[in-house]
Parts: sequence; C-alpha cells; structure tokens
Amino acid sequence: MVEPFLDALHPARCRLCGGYAGNDLACSEHPLPPEPAPPRCGRCAAGLAPVLPDGAKCVSCRRRSPPFHRAVVLADYRDESVRAWVLALRHGGRVDLAEPLGALLGERLDLEQDGQVDELLVPVPLHRWRRIERGYDQAERLARAAARAAHRSVAPVLSRLRSTAPQGSAGTASRAANVRGAFAARRGARERVLERDVWLVDDVVTSCATVSECARVLRRLGARRVGVLAVARAGADDGRVLRSPV
Ligand SMILES: [Zn+2]
Ligand SMILES: [Zn+2]
Repeated sequence: MVEPFLDALHPARCRLCGGYAGNDLACSEHPLPPEPAPPRCGRCAAGLAPVLPDGAKCVSCRRRSPPFHRAVVLADYRDESVRAWVLALRHGGRVDLAEPLGALLGERLDLEQDGQVDELLVPVPLHRWRRIERGYDQAERLARAAARAAHRSVAPVLSRLRSTAPQGSAGTASRAANVRGAFAARRGARERVLERDVWLVDDVVTSCATVSECARVLRRLGARRVGVLAVARAGADDGRVLRSPV
C-alpha cells in the first residue's frame, strides 16, 4: 500500500536492485558514495594509511612514478555496496548499470576539468574472448556513457593481444610482467590520440599494472597527458591488493 504512494512522490528506483530509492540513484542498501574516503594517493588514488595526509604519494608511486598523471575514482572497492555494483556490471550481465555509473564518471570528469572538453576517453580493452563470453565490454560501455554525460569523445584505440591472468595474488613485479606487451594500438590510433589529453576508463583499478601499460602505449602514440578514470579503486597503500574482482 505504501509503495505506490511513495512512487507517486518520488518515482526513483535503485538501479541495482529495483528497490525504493527516494530521490536517489540507489536504495539505502546499495548507496554509491559521493567520493572515496581520504586519505588517498594523489597519483593513483590508492587508499593511504590514516596517518598520512590526503594527496600524499603511496609507496608504489614513490618507488616508481606511474606513466599517468593521476587517477580519479568514484569509490573504494573495499566498500561492500560498491562491490555489488561493479560485480553486477562485470559478471552479473547487468550491462544496463554502465549507463548510471558512466554518467557519474562523466560528472566527476567535469568537476576535474572545469569545462575542458577536447579530451578523449579511451576504454581499457577487454580481450576478444572475454568480450564474446560476456556479451559486452564493460569499460567501453562505461566510457561511452561517461562521454555522453560529459560531452567528450570516445576512441577505443587499444586492443588486448592476450588474455592476462587475474591479478589478485601476484606480486607487483609479476603483475607488471603479466601485462607487458599485452596491449597494442589499433589502426588509426596515433591520429586520434596525438597531442590529446586522454583519460583511460575502466570499472576497477586493481594494481595499476594494466592502466600503466595502457598509458605507456598511449604516451608512445603521442598522447599529451594520460589520466585514469574508474568506478572503483581496489589497491592498498603499500601496493597490496586487498580484493581483486578477477
Ligand atoms: Zn538497491
Ligand atoms: Zn599511488
């Protein structure tokens, strides 16, 4: 009896579960935090130990400066409700979630850039087999939705040459080795990215090995600056991976 009445007042439904969401995108069970809790690394957005100031560099970034200038993420993957969204999009066949999540990425990008609109969004590519298996490429869907929301353009200029193993258990060095040479530029990529500011888009950034490798390829193609834009960040301050989405 109550729900139709509430619907008339606030018709919004949680995009994840369909439950009552008030004026919001999500119900109280599946909140999407407005931003990940500080302190976070100013370069790669990894969560830092609470004693460190927000924006300080994490151990990995101090050890080796990443090939992207910064990572912007919506949430921390340790957050249970954020994981529910990401896993539904990634493994639950919920391609429809790319639209609201991508729109949030687009809004976030607008805040970052303050009106600069000539940037290119490049999705981190999925291997062809994974794409066939899943039926869609979640990073590409996110990039397209973000581009629509933020009036940017999308260029899927990278391809994944081989399927890389899940990165949850490997150490930093072997994760980097795992993805080395795994990405290549598609035909016409150089013309698209030359002298452009590029944002690499993915659902979850786990170890930074994948986005770093993609950023290197884009820099070699002549991109002016490469940033990383993702729904969630899964790494800890010492480079350890707390939880990998596979
Ligand atoms: Zn819900
Ligand atoms: Zn860092």
